[in-house]
Amino acid sequence: MKPFRYFKPKTAEEALSKMATDPNAKYIAGGTNITDLMKRGIEVPDLLIDISQLPFNRIEEKGTVLRIGALALNSAVADNSIVIEKIPLLAQALNAGASGQIRNMATVGGNLLQKTRCDYYYDTTFPCNKRNPGSGCAALKGINRSHAIFGVSEKTNETACIAVHPSDMAVAMMALDAAVVLQNSKGERRVSISDFYKPMAVNPHEEYVMRREELIVAIEIPKSAYYSNAHYLKVRDRASFAFGIVSVAATLDISQNRVKSVGIALGGVAHKPWRLPAVEKLMIGQPVSDALFQKVAGNMMKDAFAFEHNAYKIKLASNAIVHALKTAAEIP
Ligand code: SF4
Repeated sequence: MKPFRYFKPKTAEEALSKMATDPNAKYIAGGTNITDLMKRGIEVPDLLIDISQLPFNRIEEKGTVLRIGALALNSAVADNSIVIEKIPLLAQALNAGASGQIRNMATVGGNLLQKTRCDYYYDTTFPCNKRNPGSGCAALKGINRSHAIFGVSEKTNETACIAVHPSDMAVAMMALDAAVVLQNSKGERRVSISDFYKPMAVNPHEEYVMRREELIVAIEIPKSAYYSNAHYLKVRDRASFAFGIVSVAATLDISQNRVKSVGIALGGVAHKPWRLPAVEKLMIGQPVSDALFQKVAGNMMKDAFAFEHNAYKIKLASNAIVHALKTAAEIP
């Protein structure tokens, strides 16, 4: 591993100011992803700014939102009584996301920012636009069974990236209409999680709208998204501790057996959790039924595009949507 300097700021201002003066600095908190990347020579920072002790780990209801500090551990969020009682979808996604050891180290902010698990990204002998901009995409004509089926098309070419985002938590956050709270030297701004990730076809190495002079300090979930009818379904190659091939976060507000409000997000299918509000809109006012959920799944998969090895994901995702919605709605 390349030698690096280490700095532990006492305040967010100190962290931001250090980041501004060192062009090759990186933040570290739980370190569950960046240390792997450093060992493989994919990330080679001159300076690590350890933000793990900054005061951003509270989980509290404030006004109309649940505010989860960016440095709250994944396990602390999954075990939080408000989350368990009012947002079971989030607890399910976090518990599905990693082993207990990882959940005890990984932070909420780091979870959002974790890198793709595309094998070609981690193998530095292959071209990869995300790791080495402009070098090409080995997955495009390589083994692409775990890659994207949304946000891609027959026009996707060597300048793009077809990797998927690996987070489970972010999929639940997308279904819950969460906002990412970013702090800079002037104050805070909020970005909807659906706008937080940049399109992968443009500059694959630029993944987020967050600027270098900003730090994630919290994620906020609107209380209006607290629905008890919810289910997170993760499909993976083996039963535990594997990244999802396809996942579905489904949350429903049901009144008199009809859909009052709904959030459905898919994971493992695109560079970001994938949500189709236009399809969800068609559900409003409809009676909950297997037929409705089959129709929704069909509509959601209409624009999916498969590469050589990942066509199976289209049927798998469709079945997963139906299963997740039926489980959430408690219909057999
Ligand atoms: Fe790199 Fe993305 Fe292509 Fe994977 S899919 S090789 S991460 S550019």
